[in-house]
Amino acid sequence: MDDRNILEVKNLEVHFEARSGFLNNLLSREVPRIRAVDGVNFNLKKGEILSLAGESGCGKTTTGKAILRLVEPTGGKVYFRGQDLSLLTQKELREFRQQAQIIFQDPYESLNPRQTVFATVAEPLEVNRICDNTKEKEERVARALSDAGLKNPRDYFIRYPHELSGGQRQRIAIASALVLKPKFIVADEPVTMLDLSIRSGILKLMMELRDNKQISYLFITHDLSLAWLISDRIAVMYSGNIVEIGGAEQIIGSPAHPYTKALVSVIPNPERSSGTDRKLLEGEIPDPSSPPRGCKFHPRCSYAQPCCREERPLLREVEKDRFVSCHLV
Ligand code: SF4
Repeated sequence: MDDRNILEVKNLEVHFEARSGFLNNLLSREVPRIRAVDGVNFNLKKGEILSLAGESGCGKTTTGKAILRLVEPTGGKVYFRGQDLSLLTQKELREFRQQAQIIFQDPYESLNPRQTVFATVAEPLEVNRICDNTKEKEERVARALSDAGLKNPRDYFIRYPHELSGGQRQRIAIASALVLKPKFIVADEPVTMLDLSIRSGILKLMMELRDNKQISYLFITHDLSLAWLISDRIAVMYSGNIVEIGGAEQIIGSPAHPYTKALVSVIPNPERSSGTDRKLLEGEIPDPSSPPRGCKFHPRCSYAQPCCREERPLLREVEKDRFVSCHLV
């Protein structure tokens, strides 16, 4: 493993059995498998922000959860700091979970409304039996709140989520992740539920934490313009696979895959005259239990050729550190 990488994901798969109806059970018909994540490969460098972008239902959240083993992968390997996560003992898995945290989309749901801020942020310390005494625990909680950008952190100790704004709640959720001093965070649409005016503050905080604490992020988003703003690299996901990955400026400035081109064409850009070059995507993401043969994007692709209906394109390096899966690129 390249020691500049904190994470390597190789051919990761998460396939679920679809719920089978009574008639199917009775007739012993084969249960269809949902290919939520269908062979995903990427690496994440130390201190890097990589966005995983795509429409909802493309498998990006399941990928993030499978990396953290909140969902059990059905195939492939994930290496964290060189360690194969599938081989960890229970003790090692607990240690991994201290170093790898997740921030969820909805700060209204991710916080327990009956717990004070102190109880919420101290909980990971208690679960992992990290602090011996109350004074030490208070100091760790105050530091995490301060690192999450909350001034006078001890003033928040006895407050409840309903007394806080949306931005403050998301900062509490971030503090709960920071209290364990993680090195890797999966941020799953962390600003989607927030007002526009608050979003930039949370994104700025995440970038400061990356710079000051060398935290690496997998930033999951459906919004390519956000990915552009925050990331070093962007991976575009479609129906369980990465179809293009490269530097954020490369991907936005010269998208290569037809799906990426369509997503980029609708990013608001003051330099583009209205209506020019916009490629509105028609149709839906395919059913993950019966994806189309060949390239999964071919039913929606205006460039599709006969070979696209037969042969699935591989993710190939088309220039340095830029990978695309398309027969025509
Ligand atoms: Fe379109 Fe064919 Fe490329 Fe798929 S492989 S994106 S169908 S051109």
